[in-house]
Amino acid sequence: MLKILKVKSREILDSRGNPTVETDIFTRQGVSRASVPSGASTGVHEAVELRDGGKRYLGLGVSKAVKNVNNTIAKKISGKSFDQEKLDNLLIGLDGTPNKEQLGANAVLSVSLAFCKASALEQGVPLYSHIANLFESKKLLLPVPAFNIINGGKHAENKLDFQEYMLLPVKAKSFSEALQIGSEVYHVLKKRIAKHYGKSATNVGDEGGFAPPMTCFEEPLDYIMDAVNELGYYKKIKLGVDVAATSFYRGNKYYLEGSELSSGELRDTYLEMAGAYPVVSIEDPFVEDDFEAFAKLNKKIKGVQIVGDDLLCTNQQRIQKAIILDSCNALLLKVNQIGTVTEALEAAKLALKQDWNVMVSHRSGETDDSFIADLAVGLGNGQIKSGAPCRGERLAKYNQLLRIEEELGKKAKFGGRIKWQKR
Ligand code: PEP
Ligand code: MG
Repeated sequence: MLKILKVKSREILDSRGNPTVETDIFTRQGVSRASVPSGASTGVHEAVELRDGGKRYLGLGVSKAVKNVNNTIAKKISGKSFDQEKLDNLLIGLDGTPNKEQLGANAVLSVSLAFCKASALEQGVPLYSHIANLFESKKLLLPVPAFNIINGGKHAENKLDFQEYMLLPVKAKSFSEALQIGSEVYHVLKKRIAKHYGKSATNVGDEGGFAPPMTCFEEPLDYIMDAVNELGYYKKIKLGVDVAATSFYRGNKYYLEGSELSSGELRDTYLEMAGAYPVVSIEDPFVEDDFEAFAKLNKKIKGVQIVGDDLLCTNQQRIQKAIILDSCNALLLKVNQIGTVTEALEAAKLALKQDWNVMVSHRSGETDDSFIADLAVGLGNGQIKSGAPCRGERLAKYNQLLRIEEELGKKAKFGGRIKWQKR
């Protein structure tokens, strides 16, 4: 049990220049600080991010959430001792709603994350080791990074309907080699995009990937493969996409690149894509509530993980439903979709028990907090996505993974042997 002496929250800005919550927890060992990320293509079933509304920051201020930490939460936890589960249960009870709309998941999560860091500090162990202990995990594993190097959808002002085009250096020998491959491919890709579309096409989107004026999903995949082949990395990498299909779904149809598709036609498109490119990961291929469409694709496609993000929202009930219907075989784990460390760990446990894969994920609006890097190593799940190897808030996570790799030395195992589809 760890005694909380004081809690202090404040409003800071995230990587998009929008307000978010940062909280400090004071213990006898010192100050532990955590900040909360924010999505753009959010699932409707996510825990609620409390925003002020009104004129200030165009309605996006988080002063109410900050007040909820500094007043309501601080009153209940200052001077008292907790472990992670006890604290998170208190926060859940204090909020009292199923989606944390009373206090705000941003308020609650900032406290939960800062406490997790404070607990590691108290024990004098690295954060990833503390998380591994909380998770009762025996393996520390450096994750395969999924670099989102071309941005579309709600993360970029171009015509690409799929949101993310990712490079996964699965056959790298180590995390540091994977990062090197990611960086080299990123820079060669930049040169190739500049050559064909002009230099302004290499401006980057929210997650650090390029946002060129491409129009069909094959084009980014071709460009990435050309850069990969120029560097001779063909055997070291695979590809992934986050379709975020809810963003182009209207009235029972998908509007992809000017065509109106049924969910069956969209499924056929994915099957063709997986035949033509070395794609091993497809995230949110259908609208966020269509568990059945996910299941049909999951059944048909081979050697590809089907990842539930907006579908699952890191929510145990939704994961349960997806297990029953066999909708996917991988969980995208976003701590702010659910709002506490304990609930995020429970969601990961549930997925891993089913022999699913788990990909720990950032949000498109981020801060320099690198919590998710330690989370991925502590869970031992083997995958992380934190955008392109570019932009400080993305590299905060990848650089932390380099430090962890260095610290673990010979014990640093890399998650490159993941099976993309286990059944
Ligand atoms: C995603 O959809 O996986 C993602 C990281 O984007 P956002 O944070 O905007 O939901
Ligand atoms: Mg997603």
